[in-house]
Amino acid sequence: MTIVIVGAGLGGLRTAQELRKQGYDGGLVLVGDEPHLPYDRPPLSKEVIRGEREDTTFENEEYFAENRIELRLGVAVVRVDTENTMLELADGSTLPYDQLVIATGLRPRRVPSLPDLDGVHVLRSRDDAESLRRDASAAARAVVVGAGFVGCEVAAGLRHLGVDVTLVEPQATPLASVLGSDVGELVSRLHRDEGVTVRTGVGVDTLRGTERVTHVVLSDGTELAADLVVIGIGSTPVVEVLEASGVTVDNGVVADAYGRTDVRGVWAVGDVAAWDHPQHGRRRVEHWSNVGDQVRVMVPALLGKEPAAPRPAVPYFWSDQYDVKIQALGSPSADDSVEIVEDDGRKFLAYYVRDGILTAVVGAGMAGAVMKMRAKIGQPT
Ligand SMILES: Cc1cc2nc3c(=O)[nH]c(=O)nc-3n(C[C@H](O)[C@H](O)[C@H](O)COP(=O)(O)OP(=O)(O)OC[C@H]3O[C@@H](n4cnc5c(N)ncnc54)[C@H](O)[C@@H]3O)c2cc1C
Repeated sequence: MTIVIVGAGLGGLRTAQELRKQGYDGGLVLVGDEPHLPYDRPPLSKEVIRGEREDTTFENEEYFAENRIELRLGVAVVRVDTENTMLELADGSTLPYDQLVIATGLRPRRVPSLPDLDGVHVLRSRDDAESLRRDASAAARAVVVGAGFVGCEVAAGLRHLGVDVTLVEPQATPLASVLGSDVGELVSRLHRDEGVTVRTGVGVDTLRGTERVTHVVLSDGTELAADLVVIGIGSTPVVEVLEASGVTVDNGVVADAYGRTDVRGVWAVGDVAAWDHPQHGRRRVEHWSNVGDQVRVMVPALLGKEPAAPRPAVPYFWSDQYDVKIQALGSPSADDSVEIVEDDGRKFLAYYVRDGILTAVVGAGMAGAVMKMRAKIGQPT
């Protein structure tokens, strides 16, 4: 029996670890296209950008040897042949499997119409972070395009380095599509208070510069001088390996509430996976804690120890911006009705309600108040 995991990120690593923890003793191969040992991504937009940490590797090589997890790093899987239960790798080799886990994550969206200039960055990988960190240490003026979590965290990190930052967001506020505009406005205030120029309701038209970027031209015609540009406009699931495999892909790898796809022996986990959720229907979640929650449900099912019904954990995610930790418990939606229950001008607490049910609690610098609401999530208000 051989279980092969495609993608050596958080989902791939956690799946391998849980398989061993649950007593799986057979062959276990983790294939990753990056040359690095599995590493943690959240610090990339926080400590790594600020220059406080370089290495975010989870486990060293000895760990993998001791746990008999065979690593195939620096080589991409290019095709999944589900008929012959075989993978084709970029180095021309093949790899047979009995069970296959897809954990290929996301790749950052780019704007194809923008010219390819030095000083323009996206942030997903360790290599992205190292390159951004190098440029950031010499930058004076940065434009961050997109005020999602990564954009907001990068803006905060650059301010920490003393860089002059403009945050450009086409929606009405930062984080509007995730947390709604009431809470988004409070996040905007946090950035303004830290000296960030927040430009909302406007997009990017083009970039100027010869080799290196010098200016960002906004859709309203404004030209912003910049020696560093970070594009943080979201990410898309990495699913090409499944082309012609028979596995259904629809904004991610479609899977049931255990991670099982519609092709026997193929599973999907992490940011790339669009799992069926008992309460929310099919959804793809791009947060760290979700990976562990999914692995704990998927691995017993993969080993044939299926529980009677999946018991989804209360979702959790966080984002660190300046000295403030924004935390969300539950599943906030931008169109929930939002009540700001505390606001001291910097820290805040908000309740999200839909159809009379508390869907989520979001706090900034309010860890205790958020966590003590755990049992109330999903209950009538
Ligand atoms: C900068 C940044 C900051 C973040 N901060 C937070 C945070 O504060 N809070 C939070 O909750 N979440 C945060 N996240 C999200 C969290 O890191 C992700 O949810 C988590 O990494 C998902 O793990 P994954 O294994 O699904 O994907 P990934 O970690 O992306 O791993 C997928 C791996 O598969 C590899 N791969 C892709 N295709 C192939 C192929 N064909 N063959 C072989 N390998 C392949 C990729 O290169 C990658 O190494 C952050 C993410 C980023 C990028």
